[in-house]
Order: sequence, then C-alpha cells, then structure tokens
Amino acid sequence: MGVNLLGLDRDALAGFLAGLGEKPFRARQLMRWVHQLGVDDFAAMTDLAKPLRARLAEAADVTAPRVVSDATAPDGTRKWLLDVGSSAVEAVFIPEASRGTLCISSQAGCMLDCRFCATGKQGFNRNLTAAEIVGQLWHARRALGASRADRVISNVVMMGMGEPLLNLDNVLPALRLMLDDNAYGLSRRRVTVSTSGIVPAIDRLREECPVALAVSLHAPSDALRDVLMPINRKYPLRELMAACARYLERAPRDSITFEYVMLDGVNDAPAHARELIALASGVSCKINLIPFNPFPGAEYRRSPEAAIRRFAERLQAAGIITTIRKTRGFDIDAACGQLAGQIADRTRRTLKIARAA
Ligand code: SAH
Ligand code: SF4
Repeated sequence: MGVNLLGLDRDALAGFLAGLGEKPFRARQLMRWVHQLGVDDFAAMTDLAKPLRARLAEAADVTAPRVVSDATAPDGTRKWLLDVGSSAVEAVFIPEASRGTLCISSQAGCMLDCRFCATGKQGFNRNLTAAEIVGQLWHARRALGASRADRVISNVVMMGMGEPLLNLDNVLPALRLMLDDNAYGLSRRRVTVSTSGIVPAIDRLREECPVALAVSLHAPSDALRDVLMPINRKYPLRELMAACARYLERAPRDSITFEYVMLDGVNDAPAHARELIALASGVSCKINLIPFNPFPGAEYRRSPEAAIRRFAERLQAAGIITTIRKTRGFDIDAACGQLAGQIADRTRRTLKIARAA
C-alpha cells in the first residue's frame, strides 16, 4: 500500500511530489483530479505525464473508508456507515432548501463519556486519520453527484462521532483540504467544528485554522455541566467562555454557536434559562437548542416540545438569537453515533454467540 493521497493537504502533497522528483505545482493538478473530480485511478489523470501516472500508481493510492451501509430517510437525509477497520463511523448528508450539510466524524468512538451521548457510551476506539476524515467528504460528493443543486455539499459540520479537538493533528490537514480552492473550496464560515470544550485546542484551532466554532454547552452552571459532561471538571465554564472570547478575535463568523441539548427535567427549567442568559451575555453567540435523541439504555428523556419552545422564547426575549434544531429523518432511530452503536452491539452479540457455541 502506498501513501493515501486523500489525507495530504497541499503542502504535504507538494512535499510528496518533490520526493518523486516532481515540481510542486503538480500538487494543484493532482488535487483537482482527486478531490474535485473524485478520481481514484491515476491512469485516468490524462493531463499528467504517463511516467508520473505510473510512479503514482506504485507509490500512492486514493482510498476512502469502505461503505457498510447507505440509507436515505423519507425527508432526503442520507446516512452512510463507513468501515474504518476495527469499527465503523458515520457521515450524514442533510439537504435543505438553501444548503446541503454534510456531518462527518473525527474519531471512532469518544473518550469523553458525556452522559447523554450514544457515542460516548461506546467508549473510545481510535483517532481517524486525515484520509479517513476527508474520505467521508470525498465519498459523499461522489455518491451524491453534484449535478443537482439539492445534492451539493455547501457546508460541512464536524458533529458526527468523536471529539475533533482531541484529534487536531488529523483534523487540521482535513480542514485545510475542505477550504482549499483546488479541493473542496468551502469558505471558513461554512465549515464548523463542534467541541465539548477542549480549551487549549480551541486556542490551537484559532491559531492554525480558524473555522466556524460550535461549543456543546448543555448546562449553564459548572455543577450541572460536571454531571452531564465530565470534561467540564478539567475545563470549567469560566475558562471555556474565555477561550470562546479569544476565538472570536480570529473567527470567520462574529459569533460562536452554543449547542444545548434539551433534557426533560434536567436542564430545561426557567431557572436554567436565566442562568444561560447570564452566561451567554459575556460572549457574542447564538444558541441552538437540540431536542435530545433517545437511544436504548439512555437515562434521559427529551424535553416536551412546548417546554423547548418556552425555553427558546425566554432566550429570545433576552435578545439572544436562538434556534431549535429540526429533528430529521434519522433522529428517530439512529442519531449521533447510534447507528454505529447498534452495529457494535450486534457485533458483540455475535461474538458472544460464537464464543458460547
Ligand atoms: N464531540 C463533539 C462533536 C460531536 S457531538 C461535541 O460534543 O460537540 C455533536 C453534537 O451532538 C454535540 O452538541 C453533542 O452534545 C450532541 N449530542 C450528543 N448526543 C446527543 C443526543 N443523544 N441527542 C442530541 N444531541 C446529542
Ligand atoms: Fe464525545 Fe461529543 Fe459525545 Fe461528548 S457529546 S461523548 S464529546 S461525541
């Protein structure tokens, strides 16, 4: 197996080509073939000299994770489960009237164990490579075909499985490829990293590749956030808010998005809204309320719709731009890590049966 070109950003690819005795500008040409045209066969890259094509075929490959399942919900949401060797991760395409958003994963599993999260319950398997991260976008673009406007990927959000800021060494080259005009050419405002709040990594992202930032808040006080998200004990709210303020100095958008999952009787009372308003007043932000997606074994319930609406109205009355995330096709049975989780459970069961036999 050669070097997987899917994970090389422009500098890395130029370096790789230099090693083959090629001029760095060939990187642009090669990137267009691979990322824009979705070509994985070097022989088909007709504007490259034949000897170079042959050398590339020996030294490199273009390999995205293998597709395990591919399903489309009635509302057009399409979900792929991708094999990354020891386990599976998911990527989801969400078509909307004015944009198409691809949600991708950064790790197989997650080590942060937030109590409301199906991915967290699976534990941590490993970091995805840059090629596996970009491979999700590469594959989705090919599978959707860009011929119809409603299938164009205009936005990418890193809100699938895993904590992207605990895998920055691989996430950064992937982000640079998303932004590169010779690859996916997305604007910084249309690429969003979602984090549970890894403070030093927020600073590193700000320095190295500032894109839109979403922060999973989910609780307005340290006491409650400590319970829901153990990472809060390491990076409490005061430090997290300060990191958000620093990030805004370099961010492509003039606000941070705070995600807030609505858990019945846990974080959805008027007192929580008041605390959240006070917290949010310190930093330019928008709040996105996420109806909780239940999963087998979950210890929480989704807040009733009316409670979510009232909570949103309280925030809006205080002048905070607040949206409620629409529940999409797959939310009913397979949201945020659950599809992969079901597969993992099934594998474990199969293993048990095999051992018992
Ligand atoms: N690890 C990152 C990104 C992946 S999770 C993070 O935590 O931000 C993407 C979003 O889905 C996060 O806001 C996360 O808190 C939320 N989420 C996790 N489990 C959920 C569930 N069961 N229902 C609704 N949202 C959930
Ligand atoms: Fe990991 Fe994000 Fe899930 Fe928390 S919510 S366990 S950080 S994937």
